[in-house]
Amino acid sequence: MTEFAAIAAPAAPRSAELIDGKAMAATIRGELRETVAKLAANGTHPGLAVALVGEDPASAVYVGGKIRACKEIGIRSIEARLPADTTTAQLLELIDQWNADDNVDGILVQLPLPRGLDTQAVVERILPSKDVDGFGADNLGRLAQGRPRLVACTPWGVMEMLKRWGQPSGWTPAGKRAVVIGRSITVGRPMALLLLSADATVTICHSRTPDLASAVRQAEIVVAAAGQRHLVQGDWIAKGAVVIDVGIHRGEDGKLTGDVDFATASQRARAITPVPGGVGPMTIAMLMANTVSACRQRRGQGV
Ligand code: NAD
Repeated sequence: MTEFAAIAAPAAPRSAELIDGKAMAATIRGELRETVAKLAANGTHPGLAVALVGEDPASAVYVGGKIRACKEIGIRSIEARLPADTTTAQLLELIDQWNADDNVDGILVQLPLPRGLDTQAVVERILPSKDVDGFGADNLGRLAQGRPRLVACTPWGVMEMLKRWGQPSGWTPAGKRAVVIGRSITVGRPMALLLLSADATVTICHSRTPDLASAVRQAEIVVAAAGQRHLVQGDWIAKGAVVIDVGIHRGEDGKLTGDVDFATASQRARAITPVPGGVGPMTIAMLMANTVSACRQRRGQGV
């Protein structure tokens, strides 16, 4: 070792390729803009209705991003901002109106709802053909049966990222060992079902999994969606694994980080998603894609 190396040992460089969700999402939005322009030329204008209940600042930011994406693509948006003391009955009434409105192709109620509201009743009230979040029993059940229609946007965005990143080298999830951390209806469960449909061998880990590290060490694909900042340590990552970080955490400095310790994981992974700029933008892009596809499914494929 030279004396210089002893003095200034640089941090090990990132060897992983970045999976650039921000750029992929921009490409998808561009593709959708063209599709929406063609639909408009035929007199069809896809519409998305979004309800935000209460004052949760993170939810307001997410809804703002969704409305902006609608504008960029040419999707008509309707936004209902409701006070935190809205009752379940009032929210169900609004959903009934949107269900009956032929100009509304997709309905999204931003979660989480304020305490006291019946989230399941609200989610199930949305017509399956307009359930662009894909959280309802009909759409989730269809995914479990392997005949998906409207798929939850975050896990679908992850699959789209894997597809687009893997295409040039011929990499696919088929035959790979995948570990999904988290079993929520919105992310973990549909994620596992999608990977299964793509012929991966899937292990679902959750808060009661006794030795998460050893499960992750076996994985060729890791999807972290636990909602625990830097839960996944770099030395858990098998050399050459593909790592997708779904987690979003805002630090006291205002910076966003994920469920994966990016600095150390990116020294071992083959490819990794950043936070921000990874899964987040893809989630919004897939919401737009779901709205366009709900429009085509409802009004006929030919439009
Ligand atoms: P959730 O709280 O509903 O579910 C978290 C899951 O992780 C649970 O199933 C739980 O069992 C599991 N879990 C918690 N602690 C764990 C631990 N120590 N070890 C193993 N498993 C553990 O959360 P969610 O809605 O599924 O979201 C997960 C994360 O993804 C959050 O950080 C959320 O902000 C983020 N998120 C991001 C996007 C996006 O667009 N990027 C979208 C949705 C959610």
